[in-house]
Amino acid sequence: MSGRNGVDLRPGGAAARAASPAGVALSVVIPVYNEEPTLPLLFARLYPALDALGIDYEIVFVNDGSVDRSAQILAAQFEARPEVTRVVLFNGNFGQHRAILAGFEYSRGERVVTLDADLQNPPEDIGKLLAAMDAGHDYVGTIRRLRQDSVWRRWASLAMNRLRDRITRIRMTDQGCMMRAYSRSIVQLINQCGEMNTFIPALAYQFARTPTEIEVGHEERAAGESKYSLYSLIRLNFDLVTGFSVVPLQWFSMLGMAVSVGAAALVVLLVARRIVIGPEEGGLFTLFAIAFLLVGLALFGIGLLGEYIGRIYQEVRSRPRYVVSAVLERRP
Ligand code: UDP
Ligand code: MG
Repeated sequence: MSGRNGVDLRPGGAAARAASPAGVALSVVIPVYNEEPTLPLLFARLYPALDALGIDYEIVFVNDGSVDRSAQILAAQFEARPEVTRVVLFNGNFGQHRAILAGFEYSRGERVVTLDADLQNPPEDIGKLLAAMDAGHDYVGTIRRLRQDSVWRRWASLAMNRLRDRITRIRMTDQGCMMRAYSRSIVQLINQCGEMNTFIPALAYQFARTPTEIEVGHEERAAGESKYSLYSLIRLNFDLVTGFSVVPLQWFSMLGMAVSVGAAALVVLLVARRIVIGPEEGGLFTLFAIAFLLVGLALFGIGLLGEYIGRIYQEVRSRPRYVVSAVLERRP
């Protein structure tokens, strides 16, 4: 297996994969984590939609350490359609983005489409993504038409979109939608990146020469519930910010400078009053308020610094990003 991307526990796993011939037109990569109720619905729509396209395709499911029966359901589906199905099984839960990275690593298609397992985006829209690629785009992003998520999630992602827009070069209308299409050259570049925590649509955008965006449908989850808690959403957004920009650190040093100038002016003012007016008692609480504000800012700054140092720490440890315990595929 290449570099530090992942560890393959199968005997001869890496060598076997290197020998697999390239040569399907389309790979669809789907991360799966506890999707037992949605998988049968997904199969029922995805396979007919892809068959209808009339091209060579493969579907790469990556089971991200599900604790329900997802792995068995995927294995059964592999038995049913072995010629177009491959299943990568992780030996633990490594997160959606690492699951997609593993899917990229194992995919062979000239084009790769990523899709969530929960049917929030209609598989029937894959043809639209391919049409945009036919028009010459190497990366096709998506915008969710009539987004069906809770109000606070829509609001939070709007705020994050704005922030990302300000502090990175990445221009995306809707960063949250994972149904996207990538050309093989972009997938190869992503495969070469060894980052531990990343945000794939943003990474791809940086490598794209002719990116575009199209609208796709969006529905409520077909079944089951969102795998993202508020905490993991916040973590993901930190990865987006710290993984693609040092602007927050730069802003912070500018803020530090401004606060220092203000504090210096305050000191001069207070010393002057001491000399001119003499000792004063008032203003104690104002000073407290100012001190608390400064302490708060300092703590925030330390936390922000910690985010970047944590990233550096994870990178230098260079542990594998995921561990593959088995791959179900038909040997050529
Ligand atoms: N997922 C995963 N690993 C995780 C969490 C999620 O592989 O640790 C998969 C999940 O099975 C689904 C996709 O990532 O296919 C998106 O998850 P979800 O629909 O819960 O996210 P949301 O749409 O709420 O952002
Ligand atoms: Mg979803």
